[in-house]
Amino acid sequence: MKKATQVIHTGVEPEKHTGASSVPIFMASTFHQKDIDEIPPYEYSRSGNPTREAVEISLATLEGGTRGFALASGMAAMTTAMALFGAGDHVIASRDIYGGTYRLLSKVWPHFGVETTFVDATDVEAIAKAARPNTKGLILESPSNPTMAITDIAGAVALAKERKWRTIIDNTFMTPYLQQPLNLGVDVVVHSATKFLGGHSDLVAGAIVVKDEKLGKAISFYQNAFGAILSPHDSWLLLRGLKTLAVRMEASQKGAEIVARYLEGHKQIEQVYYPGLESHKGYELQQKQAAGPGAVLSFDLGSRERVKQFLSQVKLPLVAVSLGGVESILSYPTTMSHGAMEPEERIKRGIGPGLLRLSVGLEDPQDLIDDLEQALQRLDR
Ligand SMILES: *Cc1c(COP(=O)(O)O)cnc(C)c1O
Repeated sequence: MKKATQVIHTGVEPEKHTGASSVPIFMASTFHQKDIDEIPPYEYSRSGNPTREAVEISLATLEGGTRGFALASGMAAMTTAMALFGAGDHVIASRDIYGGTYRLLSKVWPHFGVETTFVDATDVEAIAKAARPNTKGLILESPSNPTMAITDIAGAVALAKERKWRTIIDNTFMTPYLQQPLNLGVDVVVHSATKFLGGHSDLVAGAIVVKDEKLGKAISFYQNAFGAILSPHDSWLLLRGLKTLAVRMEASQKGAEIVARYLEGHKQIEQVYYPGLESHKGYELQQKQAAGPGAVLSFDLGSRERVKQFLSQVKLPLVAVSLGGVESILSYPTTMSHGAMEPEERIKRGIGPGLLRLSVGLEDPQDLIDDLEQALQRLDR
């Protein structure tokens, strides 16, 4: 089946007892056990809940995996996946990674004996150079956040496989609708389902999907052991959001392409970062490994002062942390997604004081452009 069909029909069977069209929200912490010698299908909701199971099946199918896991947030998903590593292990991570993941890898896991080296993962040579005898893993994000750098996923995976490293990728910006890293050989896909998968800015959730059954067993064990599970109610919201993933991604991506081209030619803008523009360094690679450039772009207004002026004038996009909602969202990485990063680390990654990230929602692109234009016209210079 094609993705647009899968999002409607996987994990969602008519309900067994009533035939209801939507999976019920099973608000139960525990389940009756008829016979203590039989393992029941559901025992306790941390280890399994029917509503969560429905969304986990849906996530696994969409990513082309065998097991899906729904977690309380994207960071809960990343933390649970990182349990694959232990004291004495070293991992290599993309330098251009989500600020919260950077915080987790640089400030929390060292505490448990896992060291991370950050490299420019768009350069496979640089990944190879960072290897140590105790390297066990490679953590990627493509496109990266917020400068949209593209990593050659298959190339990085080939290196990792040769060295027997486990690979984890954060697929939040693309979603399985546009990019399926498991098919490129990645071991573990992680998502902030708060973003495009949920899609309505009304939910905080995370996901993990794997193909290998042994890895599935390990993640299932850590999900239950850590206990950072998604609640039945939030699982239902995520299922509801997923049903429109295909149409939302198509429409948002189309809008992003139009807005990116408008911004690229604008005299008030220093630079636009969007892998759907021919001027972007990763344009061709993105076309090769993904089904589209996605709906997130960044642009540079030159200074914090101009950013403040601009944000005080825009009316349509929500000025906020996050992305991937039905409404367009403008965020300021310096104080928002990358606030947890030291200023010198931000600058190294091209996250200057004038950089804004725009996640294009489902508004009419012309209305967005009109709004951006009136705000840009009011800028000094
Ligand atoms: C938001 C985000 C996260 C963190 O997810 P939460 O759901 O906020 O915990 C991780 N990675 C990326 C790329 C994100 O955008």
